[in-house]
Amino acid sequence: MIDHPTRDVGFGVYVHWPFCASKCPYCDFNSHVRHQPVDQERFLTAFRREIAHTASRIPGRTVTSIFFGGGTPSLMKPETVGAILDAIGGAWAVDPKAEVTLEANPTSVEAERFRGYRRAGINRVSLGVQALNDPDLKRLGRMHSVDEALGAVRIAASIFERYSFDLIYARSGQTPQAWGAELEQAISHSVEHLSLYQLTIEPGTWFQRLYDAGKITVPDEETGRALYDITQEVCEKYGLPAYEISNHAKPGAESRHNLLYWRYGEYAGIGPGAHGRLVTGNARLATATEKHPETWLELVEREGHGVIDEEVLTSEAEGDEFLLMGLRLKEGVDPRRFEAFTGRTLNPRRLRNLEEEGLIQVNGTRLAVTPKGFPVLNAVIAELAA
Ligand code: SF4
Repeated sequence: MIDHPTRDVGFGVYVHWPFCASKCPYCDFNSHVRHQPVDQERFLTAFRREIAHTASRIPGRTVTSIFFGGGTPSLMKPETVGAILDAIGGAWAVDPKAEVTLEANPTSVEAERFRGYRRAGINRVSLGVQALNDPDLKRLGRMHSVDEALGAVRIAASIFERYSFDLIYARSGQTPQAWGAELEQAISHSVEHLSLYQLTIEPGTWFQRLYDAGKITVPDEETGRALYDITQEVCEKYGLPAYEISNHAKPGAESRHNLLYWRYGEYAGIGPGAHGRLVTGNARLATATEKHPETWLELVEREGHGVIDEEVLTSEAEGDEFLLMGLRLKEGVDPRRFEAFTGRTLNPRRLRNLEEEGLIQVNGTRLAVTPKGFPVLNAVIAELAA
């Protein structure tokens, strides 16, 4: 008997494909470049085994969303993607309306595979366009031009019911005006969903070396704020308001898979370096698999799964994660779920102070961060979780 305040939010499957054609200088994801062809058949067998193993631990779920992320999953053959979807469908029931997303790089080579992905069962693509400006694409280490990216967007629009693209802003020297114009250009391509990330310098990346050597800059706080504000202004003007701090969509076009994370649902993480949150009994397990692709492969071949880290979250940790994820959303959280996770209520004095400062809004069963609170979201969460 499962009794846990997570089950009503849905069940998702995340599949990580860890390979990329080259490493982007800003990227700290689990992505690896191989100069020999990747043995997709062998990886497929391992994906199948890990899916079957996970389903044996959490049987009887109905999958509401599937997400192929990476790395660059658009380097997978459509047959590999189709076979993984078949394995998921064999392990659990899949909701006929499930959202099935694949992240793709917008090169012409990858766009040629789009029709095959559609036939395999993908119904949404998320394109890593990143910039609509050739010199910046080059600086970001991207392998496509603006023309090529927009060509891939057109092909995606003709094949998939739904598509999204990602852009990175706050790039070296970018002004709010230039960013606003670029965003308007992006929206003119009838996109229903945009993920807009501020460039951050991540430890261990090539950009960090350049930053430390003074060769690239990031905007100061004031410019960063102006870039954030223009992002909200332009997206709202064209009917794509933020539903999450970095994600904008037409009403109804929100990413259901990402909503599942932010609403603190249950999800299985399959593949190298994938994270999962599994509900067994009335406990929530945090799982993480081996990151290195070939080591993961051998581990799955030996053990049937690649999980190397697993812990039962304490009620305190669940409460913290619930706030951390849920308060990123414009809709906020239901404080009663926090109580169900932790057995305690949020501190009324802290709530009152944040409300008086105009950083949160509390309205019966909803607690949400205000537009004034979003730029200082981490501080708001830290205050509530303390
Ligand atoms: S394509 Fe994506 S995952 Fe691969 S290196 Fe570039 S940013 Fe990272």
